[in-house]
Amino acid sequence: MEYTQYGKTDMKVSRLGLGCMRFPAQEKDAISMVRYAIDHGVNYLDTAYLYKDSEIITGRALKDGYRKQVYLATKSPIWNITKHEDFEKYLDEELLRLGTDYIDVYLLHNMDHGHWETVKRFDGLTFLDKMVQKGKIRHKAFSIHNTLPAFKEIVDSFNWEMAQIQLNILDEKQQVGVEGLKYAAEKGLAMVVMEPLRGGNLLNHAPAEVAELLRAYPENRSLAEWCFRWLYNMPEVSVILSGTSSLEQLKDNLRIFEHAAPNCMSEEDEELIRKIREAFESKKSIGCTGCRYCMPCPQGVNIPEIFKLYNNYQVMKPHWVDRGMYESSLLPAGEGADQCISCGICMSRCPQALQIPDLLKKVHAEFTE
Ligand code: SF4
Ligand code: SF4
Repeated sequence: MEYTQYGKTDMKVSRLGLGCMRFPAQEKDAISMVRYAIDHGVNYLDTAYLYKDSEIITGRALKDGYRKQVYLATKSPIWNITKHEDFEKYLDEELLRLGTDYIDVYLLHNMDHGHWETVKRFDGLTFLDKMVQKGKIRHKAFSIHNTLPAFKEIVDSFNWEMAQIQLNILDEKQQVGVEGLKYAAEKGLAMVVMEPLRGGNLLNHAPAEVAELLRAYPENRSLAEWCFRWLYNMPEVSVILSGTSSLEQLKDNLRIFEHAAPNCMSEEDEELIRKIREAFESKKSIGCTGCRYCMPCPQGVNIPEIFKLYNNYQVMKPHWVDRGMYESSLLPAGEGADQCISCGICMSRCPQALQIPDLLKKVHAEFTE
């Protein structure tokens, strides 16, 4: 495992971090996976109040001496904050769930426009400073899916120690992008990357041309490996979070990160990534990461599932399974796009800024034509 400096802090972190959002279904498997990661050099775990049972399971995994071997990051549920005191109330609950006295890195979760307004209105920044003084948290951070100007405004507003951004080979110029990564890193923030494979979509929706490109390239690496390499090649990236959901995936990630040194890619490698990106961009798939922030829809529309089916369908056309599933499962269950009344609630929650009602209409028309 390669380790690196975490911004201006005294932390030395593994470049592979374990994202605790997509644990295996069985708790015992999740606990084994977390401990296996730690036993093999991972010393950075990322969870959140909003990741279902993740904090509780992570807390159980960190018993038996594992807590002191890792840096633990978790996030405040900004969605639930309605007054200043709520910040500490939820932090205390998270400490209990995680079975720990302190959080190494505490993030304000998903600083979209509304959440940033909530932080300002209820003085969330003062809260962070107070919690450092009380010893409940060690370092102050935020996560974000937002535009570059919004990101820069937030970076410049406070003495943050870390920013967590979405970045992968397809997001070089999307959201915060590489420009935002460098901007914040230059100011001394540790930079943690999430969605390195866009929630698995990068692998599941890879066009056939990508396989051809990889086959023809002299170095034999998987698409996942190239995606991770492109990230850890950048010295500004401190930790790359991988939300593995099986021990097999974790073992593959550990292998890929054995030599995760910065500046490891040649010009030819960069050119390969450019070609892979172009192959993806030639497909008109919907940029949904499956994060489910848009859910629940008051009309019962299963937005992430519909977009997943459509993306599969786009890449694998004329494969009929996805279209068939829409017609035979989602529509009869009342979860289809036909239920959408264009209220717009989902759009205000979507970190990818997708025009969800319009996309749903398009998918429905194409699937039922
Ligand atoms: S716009 Fe449509 S899909 Fe989105 S929340 Fe409203 S009804 Fe649901
Ligand atoms: S539509 Fe947006 S909010 Fe909903 S799952 Fe997809 S990316 Fe996430």
